[in-house]
Parts: sequence; C-alpha cells; structure tokens
Amino acid sequence: MNSATFDFAVVGGGPAGLAASTLLAAGGARVLLIDAARTAAFKAGEFIHPKVKAFINRLAVLQEGWEASHLPIHGLVNSWASVTPRETDFIFNPNGPALALDRQLFERQLLDTASSRGVETRLGWTAKGMEMANNLSWRVELSAANDLAYCDARYLLLATGRRSAPSISNVQRRKFDRLAFLAAHIIGPVVDCRPIIECFENGWVYMTPLPGDARVVYVFFDPRLGLPCHRTLESLRSALKSCSRLSTLLDEISCKEDAKIEWFSGAASSHLANRTAGQNWCFLGDLAESRDPLSTSGLFNALRDASRMAAHLLSGQMTGKACEEMHLERVQSFADYLKTRHSYYEEETRWNGFPFWSGKGGLVAS
Ligand SMILES: Cc1cc2nc3c(=O)[nH]c(=O)nc-3n(C[C@H](O)[C@H](O)[C@H](O)COP(=O)(O)OP(=O)(O)OC[C@H]3O[C@@H](n4cnc5c(N)ncnc54)[C@H](O)[C@@H]3O)c2cc1C
Repeated sequence: MNSATFDFAVVGGGPAGLAASTLLAAGGARVLLIDAARTAAFKAGEFIHPKVKAFINRLAVLQEGWEASHLPIHGLVNSWASVTPRETDFIFNPNGPALALDRQLFERQLLDTASSRGVETRLGWTAKGMEMANNLSWRVELSAANDLAYCDARYLLLATGRRSAPSISNVQRRKFDRLAFLAAHIIGPVVDCRPIIECFENGWVYMTPLPGDARVVYVFFDPRLGLPCHRTLESLRSALKSCSRLSTLLDEISCKEDAKIEWFSGAASSHLANRTAGQNWCFLGDLAESRDPLSTSGLFNALRDASRMAAHLLSGQMTGKACEEMHLERVQSFADYLKTRHSYYEEETRWNGFPFWSGKGGLVAS
C-alpha cells in the first residue's frame, strides 16, 4: 500500500463515511476511504422524507438524477397509537415525493461520486487497530483475507456504524434501550404500496415498499422478551394479526406462490458515545449516536454529521474547544430526541398490559 500520508483516513463506507470523503476531497484534501465490505453489504432499504432528499441534493454528494433509480413514495399510512390510520401525502410537498431507497444502490452511487472526486478507496479491508504514531499522524492497520497492510493519515474519521465498537481509548457508548428488529425482505407485487406503521402487542412494525416490486417488513421488539415470531410468512402473519393493514398485505402476499422472502435481524437500539471528537479524530453517523428507526432520521443525521465535520475540518476549525462544543450540541439534541421518543411510546396505550409497552419499547433503566 502507498505509504504516503493521507490528510484524512475515513473508516466505514456507509452514507456518513462516503459523504464525508466526497466533501473533503472536493475541498482539495487527499482522502483514503476504507470499508470492510468489498461491495455494499446487503441492507434492506429505507425511507427518506422529501426534505432529506432536498438536503442530499444541496450537499452534492450524488450525481444529478440519482433519485430516478429509487422508488418515489407519494404517501404513507401511520396507525401508531390509533385504530384509525393517519394518511399523509406528499402531493403538494415543494420537494416532491419521498423516496424508498435501494440501499445498496444508494451506497454505490455515493461511492461513484467519491471516486470521481479523487477519493482513494480500500474496499474489502477491515481497520483492525489505529494508533497515533508520533503525535503527528495515525497509523491504521488493515486486514483483508490473508493480507495485512497499514496506512498513515493526519486525521481519522470513524464511521463504522451502530454494530461496531468505538476503537478510541476511553470512549464508550451508552445504550438507552434494547430495541431489536427482525426483517422480511419480500419480492412480489401488491396493490397498495404505501409505507405502513402499525403497533401490536409485542412491538411495532414498519413496512416500506422498495424499487423492483419488493418491500421490507421490519418488526421491532425487545429481545429480552423473546422473538415475536419465527422466520416464516405464516408465523409473521400470526404475530401481526392485530395489525389490520399489514395483515391484509401479508394475506395478499401469501396467495402468491412465487413470492421470495429473505430474513435478517439486528439491533435497532438508541445509543450515544461519551465523546465524539478529540485530537485528530472524530466519530460520524451511527457510531456517534444511533436513534430508534421510528424517528426515520438515521440517514439525515449521518449525512448532516458528514457535512458539518467536513466544513469544520476544511476550514481548520477543529480545535479542542470546537470538539467540545460540537459534542455538547449533540448531547442536547440527543436529550431532546429521547424525550420525543418517550412521548411517542407513551402515546400508544392500547397494549399497556403487555411487557413491551409497559417497558416503553425496551427502555434500559437509567
Ligand atoms: C431496521 C432499521 C431500519 C432503518 N430505517 C431507516 C429509514 O427508513 N430511514 C432512515 O433515514 N434511517 C433508517 N435507519 C437508520 C440508518 O440505517 C442508519 O442511520 C445509517 O445506515 C447510518 O449510516 P452510517 O454511515 O453511520 O453507518 P452504516 O450504514 O452502518 O455503515 C457503516 C460501514 O462501516 C463499515 N465498517 C464497519 N466496521 C469496519 C471496520 N472495522 N473497518 C472497515 N469498515 C468497517 C461497514 O462495512 C459499513 O459499510 C434504520 C436502521 C435500522 C436498524
């Protein structure tokens, strides 16, 4: 590997790391992007509001026309805390429809822009360790299959997502809840393809359509109370029988013999790191903080983090005081988010006798 010292090494090629790399390279910096996956790992797909789409366009981290490969969403149906669904439409929204993203394609599009701006990439390499070599630059150890390598950079941006542990000494993340998800990625056409949010006895569920006659049903639950269903369509239908909209959709899907289903699961908990920037390093996106998917703010936060940090770094303003101020701002905004999350879970009173709801969506006692 080229032993020249990069201005910035960005570890993690999700939306936060990719956007930060592009913006730093566009500002004239020499940037190395490292991601453990050779191609974007399978991620089911996500929903973004029209205003997030407009924000992405202002950032200019994607080529013009990128939206055309994703699915426009003209409205959604939300039955949180109510039997009567609230239907929202985006018909008169000045930013046009919302979007359901093909997440792998979205990341490939971000990567194409990063490469076109001169970002150097090491895909398929995992950052194993990092240390300050001589108080001037970081040495990052990389591994891939049977290979080992290293790179040097003056500044380190870590954007390794919610599943990875912080690799800076004395930095820990505090977990505020234990929310987890089970997801069914289903291919097969259905009639009503608006996103749906519904609650049930043991959690809540969110379905979003995706490009290519696909949809993903995410079931959120508290893993301490056990899985709400097995990985079969029959079991999912049975677990969600009190969700009227989802049940109709799953009935429709189960009639189609050629429907293909892929299952996966993971954590969806909220957490915040006790420090998110220091001397010559910072955390971005879900590594710094992650929020309940109910907030649909994950991608926006990741990209906003990337843009703020790139602006600070390019203007040379990342002093110790600036790091402290940014962290305090994050702590305040996270505290506001926790209050909002709490009020949402309080609002749903139909299943108060069930442990998920009396535990307010998997809250961890403080
Ligand atoms: C079930 C669920 C549904 C969601 N739905 C939505 C939604 O509808 N809308 C929305 O806005 N947000 C949603 N989110 C949140 C959104 O997915 C995240 O906020 C977003 O992916 C964060 O981006 P990131 O770049 O910080 O991290 P990630 O996308 O997790 O990227 C991290 C990258 O780091 C790489 N990596 C990890 N460790 C290493 C290492 N040691 N070395 C090299 N590379 C490494 C990984 O390969 C990965 O590519 C959802 C989250 C969940 C869990």
